[in-house]
Amino acid sequence: MASKCDRCSEPPIHFLRYSGQHLCSDHFLDLVGRRVKKEMRAQHTIEKGRRIGIAVSGGKDSLVVLRMVNEIVRPFRDVDIVALTIDEGIAGYRPSSLDITGGITKELGVEWHLSDYRNLFGKDLDDMVKESDMGPCSICGILRRNALNRAAKEADCGVLVTGHNLDDMAQTVLMNVMQADVQRLARLGPHMDPIPGLIPRSMPLRTTPETETYLCALLLGIPIHGEECPYAETAKRGHYRDLLLKAEEETPGTRHSLLKFRDHISPLIPRGRSHVSSCTRCGEAVVEKGEKPICRGCLLLDELGIGKEE
Ligand code: SF4
Ligand code: ZN
Repeated sequence: MASKCDRCSEPPIHFLRYSGQHLCSDHFLDLVGRRVKKEMRAQHTIEKGRRIGIAVSGGKDSLVVLRMVNEIVRPFRDVDIVALTIDEGIAGYRPSSLDITGGITKELGVEWHLSDYRNLFGKDLDDMVKESDMGPCSICGILRRNALNRAAKEADCGVLVTGHNLDDMAQTVLMNVMQADVQRLARLGPHMDPIPGLIPRSMPLRTTPETETYLCALLLGIPIHGEECPYAETAKRGHYRDLLLKAEEETPGTRHSLLKFRDHISPLIPRGRSHVSSCTRCGEAVVEKGEKPICRGCLLLDELGIGKEE
């Protein structure tokens, strides 16, 4: 590590291997803040009179994005922020993050909406997992997407900000490429062209690596809850995380390249928008033809035996 920050005479606290920079704490936070602002501008996150929903799980990324976006939009009097939290019903994991989120939203004076799987879908995730052979993350991911979109619509938000960082984004791009899932790659946020029925997603931390969001959380005094989701090890994403860590170690900048690849290729992929309609059961957007389209969330609830058949 160099003895001085590249921009001042303070000691550096972080070396950004992919760009060769040594930065002190102030200049590091300044850099991340600028990136967030730049992404928000490019992704049209701030618009006059708009309510911005922020998906806050209580994890470090979501709390960092909440703090930074709140700071950036504070001067805009006609833009409101709403924190949206989904309680999946995971014993021993979710309750402590709810306490942290409640504390921070109160401290920042941000409106907080909390919804839960039990009320939305009839059961906690823990019960669904016990009664099904499906992987917990497959159930959780589909239902959380559905729940967040519903929460954002109910709170009248024009955009939904998520805390996805560079590692999350690069893993998803790599996963889609290795599975040749072109349509999923095309649907990956941020959403620049609105899709009817879906609140567009904005990801201001998408160019910031996970180690840096962690460092931001420490420097900003954001409490980091140490619990890990008990189902996390079943996530297939872990395989892609390991591949990418190795690739980044050997070729710094690999994650940025994957993100750039997505940005170049995404506008060239035809979306099939003409088939977007509303789920006949819950009203959520569904990309399907047919007379009675049903969304992935409702199909999943059927598989779990808790769907609402008409
Ligand atoms: Fe849900 Fe899986 Fe994440 Fe746990 S690790 S919160 S089950 S997606
Ligand atoms: Zn549905």
